[in-house]
Amino acid sequence: MTPQNTTFMLAADLAALAQAASPDACSLCAPLACEGWESLPATFDQSVLIAAASLRNLQVDEPDLTEYHPNGTHTWSSDAPIAPTYFPYNLCTVWTCRQCARVFLRYTEYGGYYVDERIRAVNPALIC
Ligand SMILES: [Zn+2]
Repeated sequence: MTPQNTTFMLAADLAALAQAASPDACSLCAPLACEGWESLPATFDQSVLIAAASLRNLQVDEPDLTEYHPNGTHTWSSDAPIAPTYFPYNLCTVWTCRQCARVFLRYTEYGGYYVDERIRAVNPALIC
């Protein structure tokens, strides 16, 4: 599912993209209530989302697996910082809703016995 050869984007670019979008979901992306990380609903029509860019820096062979939580948040917190150089943001691809341009991040979690497609809406106030 990860698009190849997508444009690498820095935190400032991501913030600009998210600030330009409407903060409110439209009818197409409303099923994605994902202030924090959620599993992508199996019923969601993925054609709503358009691949825009990647936060994966291909200059880095092994992305850092450290998370960034200076204020005591955790991975699943809806107010966890969106820190593009830290895990899992450094593995994410950037997607926009084709109708309202709301911005989402996605990455795939590979567990021992499962693969989980995760998605989080981008709140520009949380980007650091
Ligand atoms: Zn939308």
